[in-house]
Amino acid sequence: MLENGDMAHESAAYWCVVSGSDIWLEDGKLPYGFASEFGFSDRDVVCIGDYQGAPVMWLNDMEIEARLPMSSLRECLAYPQDLFLLASKAVQYGHMTQTMRFCPQCGGRNHLNHNQLAMQCTECRTLHYPRIFPCIIVAVRKEQQILLAQHPRHRNGMYTVIAGFLEVGETLEQCVAREVKEETGIEVSNIRYFGSQPWAFPSSMMMAFLADYQSGNIKPDYSELSDAQWFSPDEMPPVAPIGTIARQLIDQTLADINEHLTEK
Ligand SMILES: [Zn+2]
Repeated sequence: MLENGDMAHESAAYWCVVSGSDIWLEDGKLPYGFASEFGFSDRDVVCIGDYQGAPVMWLNDMEIEARLPMSSLRECLAYPQDLFLLASKAVQYGHMTQTMRFCPQCGGRNHLNHNQLAMQCTECRTLHYPRIFPCIIVAVRKEQQILLAQHPRHRNGMYTVIAGFLEVGETLEQCVAREVKEETGIEVSNIRYFGSQPWAFPSSMMMAFLADYQSGNIKPDYSELSDAQWFSPDEMPPVAPIGTIARQLIDQTLADINEHLTEK
């Protein structure tokens, strides 16, 4: 990785100017160019990686005077994965600077340590690294059907797989079984790891699993869900967008079902 500041004034870079879960985009793209073109000063700029040989820079919207057109990070989901993850990283560092202003040890004021990419207490000097919340996400298959749930917060009526936060003292597999049971009343077996995706809304790590139906009837937890159902590949509802690990899980499960059908 490039050292902070080294390249800021020397080469053209990708610019991740962030505010909350929003990021500055121009025509749907991450702006690319020299710091001087955009009037950014080196002081608040941090290099967080590189993409196709060019440095990727993070800075907070509040550090600059110009009001830039901001978009949701979700609009970057269709980017190549490496670039989406760098944009996510900038959003998560932005979130860190906004939410970790004070030291949990002594209550002193934190500032950004540019070398460590962590917050540091000006009083006791403790470094506080960005918080990452572990989450599981799981696609459950019952023969030729997939278990999908609808959340009240998704206004477009889309369905997706079950997800939830890890509790202390719990394995990921226990978390998978617990979340599916709590949200839908279903017991699962054959839980296996599928993949992972950092999810900067605001700072989760999604750890994805596939599982098989074992027993039970669907009883949605209506405090969390508006619906949960088994769906066949030929009667799928609108689902999570491309670029999400939820969508990868759904596509993998549908492919597994189709493979099973062709084998028969
Ligand atoms: Zn402190």
